[in-house]
Amino acid sequence: MDFERISRQALDSGFTNVGQLDTSTLEFLPEVREMCSADKCNRYNKSWACPPACGTLDEMREKVRRYSRGIIVQTVGQLEDSYDWEGIQEAAMRQGESFGKLWDTLKSEFPGLLAMGSGGCSRCKECTYLENKPCRFPDKTSASMEACGLLVSKVCTDNGVKYNYGPNTIAYTSCFLLE
Ligand code: SF4
Repeated sequence: MDFERISRQALDSGFTNVGQLDTSTLEFLPEVREMCSADKCNRYNKSWACPPACGTLDEMREKVRRYSRGIIVQTVGQLEDSYDWEGIQEAAMRQGESFGKLWDTLKSEFPGLLAMGSGGCSRCKECTYLENKPCRFPDKTSASMEACGLLVSKVCTDNGVKYNYGPNTIAYTSCFLLE
């Protein structure tokens, strides 16, 4: 994996920061899944991209076994204050757009890549999960890192990537497992 080149592609896609990811650091934690099942975001059991539909922790561990390296990508947003909802939304939107762009770029070189996003999938107005119909865009949606059972702060720390950018900032983090 040519990290320098991929890093440039990630920055060109709009991300603020890129780091290398060693998949041996990934731990799929039941306590993170428990946070999902508390359903504070109102997505649990309502989307193909969220638990339980996105797969068990054992299934995640199995999927990840074939990868050794990847990248961590972040969008860091500057907020006016901690109540700056518009700023938070704007950074989340940028993260989603950059994630889609980079995914499109990377998949020609790494057709088997595994993408893990930030937040639930909001591609469709109504997710087909609740109608028990297949996902409309299975190749364009991904579970979030949290939905996969990853504690994002730990993944960043374990890979030498900053997680907290200080007061009045918000950082969204996603990753791609490449090879
Ligand atoms: S792409 Fe649509 S159907 Fe698939 S998980 Fe996202 S919202 Fe649901």
